[in-house]
Amino acid sequence: MDIIAQLNLYNTQTRKKEKIVPKDGKTIRIYTCGPTIYDFAHIGNYRTYIFEDLLRRVLKYFGFSITQVMNITDIDDKTIKGAIKKNISLHEFTEPFRQAFFEDLIKLNIEKAEFYPKATQYIEYMIDIIVKLVDKKIAYKGADGSIYFSIDKFKDYGKLSHLDLKSLKEGASKRVSSDEYEKENISDFVLWKAYDQKRDGDIFWNSPFGKGRPGWHIECSAMALKLLGSNIDIHCGGVDNIFPHHENEKAQAESFTNERFVLHWAHSEHLIVDGKKMSKSLGNFYTLRDLISMDYSGRDIRYMLLNSHYRTQLNFTFEGLKAAKTSIQRILDFVLRLKSVKEEKDGDLAYAIVKKEKTRFIQALLDDLNISLALSAIFDLIREINHLIDDKKISKKEALKTIKFLKEIDKVLGFIFIDKKEDIPKIVQDALEKRIDARKNKNFALADELRDFIFDQGYVIEDIPDGARLKKK
Ligand code: AMP
Ligand code: ZN
Repeated sequence: MDIIAQLNLYNTQTRKKEKIVPKDGKTIRIYTCGPTIYDFAHIGNYRTYIFEDLLRRVLKYFGFSITQVMNITDIDDKTIKGAIKKNISLHEFTEPFRQAFFEDLIKLNIEKAEFYPKATQYIEYMIDIIVKLVDKKIAYKGADGSIYFSIDKFKDYGKLSHLDLKSLKEGASKRVSSDEYEKENISDFVLWKAYDQKRDGDIFWNSPFGKGRPGWHIECSAMALKLLGSNIDIHCGGVDNIFPHHENEKAQAESFTNERFVLHWAHSEHLIVDGKKMSKSLGNFYTLRDLISMDYSGRDIRYMLLNSHYRTQLNFTFEGLKAAKTSIQRILDFVLRLKSVKEEKDGDLAYAIVKKEKTRFIQALLDDLNISLALSAIFDLIREINHLIDDKKISKKEALKTIKFLKEIDKVLGFIFIDKKEDIPKIVQDALEKRIDARKNKNFALADELRDFIFDQGYVIEDIPDGARLKKK
């Protein structure tokens, strides 16, 4: 591994920018809180996932290898409620939203994490953790039969969120059993929720503490510890996760292992609408699908969500989205112009510009992922090199070198050289693969059926020498 530079990243816990150094000397282990699959994710959620994608891409660009885990919350208050309402199993209810999430990641060109564990696959380990916490007398059974974590037994409780526990605990109730609550309700939180037929239908697991299901916070501690161990290099999420979710994750994990859970906590600010967090509960949200149906592309939306610094709030407006579209077009026009340069006689003006702006680009990213500054270096480069093209002061070789540079930085940006295939829905891409196989196996009836299916989805197949490709009708 060839590390070329080290990133300074703000740590929520210490409130300082700190260098990211892999604990094991090789791989940066990142845990990112993922979606609750009771509905389509909204673009506020994607602001956080795009921040995490930027972090991952920048670390890779600087030579680190990465193991990233993003959990999929398929059991919590909301998924159970949805499944019961529709009178279907939890899996039947959540699976379409899980698939939709992966389709959205492709549209936004978000790199895949190494692991996407589902909470329901780790219930046994969650129970192991709770058993140990009960044995250690850090957790106890409440009058309602649920198991609670006693925050008085964890001396560091509140350190991550910088809470003044004394002032906050006045007047608070002793226990909280819902997954989400505010600072004002700081109290012992639930690890295992005792079964309640009216609320849970037939969704439950057996455990030494009786029938029930895990609380939301223990899910992440279990998946993080199982897949990444303790001393995780970076744990990310949106700022709303700091309290109570991450505070509780930390308390559970550190009480269980007696080791530090996470070395570096990184949180991104919210996408807001008229001063309020975009969220399902406020109803002020757009899904990716909403915006794509209005003729914005995944890359326009990626650009909009990426281009302001992750620690500042981003106000969602359609003007902002249109401006993102214009910026993307400007970059694509520039690439086309570079491709048209014919001059054979080499010079050195463009090389000097690339060198200068590359340094600015890198310095900006190293300073807490300052993407706005990094992008301004790229737009300066575009302006300066466009002048050279106007004045015919750039050679073909320099133009190609500039394209090479854009390709290199697009490993971080992910919105310039996009394979068009990524805009096509996954079910259509899968159907095309199946049709190619069917034709190979001379199953022409199936091949025709798949062609009709693809047509109904709005695409036609173009046969090419080595296979086939898709085009919009
Ligand atoms: P949830 O499905 O609500 O658990 O959220 C998944 C991720 O999206 C978490 O990391 C949240 O912090 C993040 N998130 C939720 N709403 C927003 C928002 N409006 N802006 C940025 N991130 C958000
Ligand atoms: Zn989590």
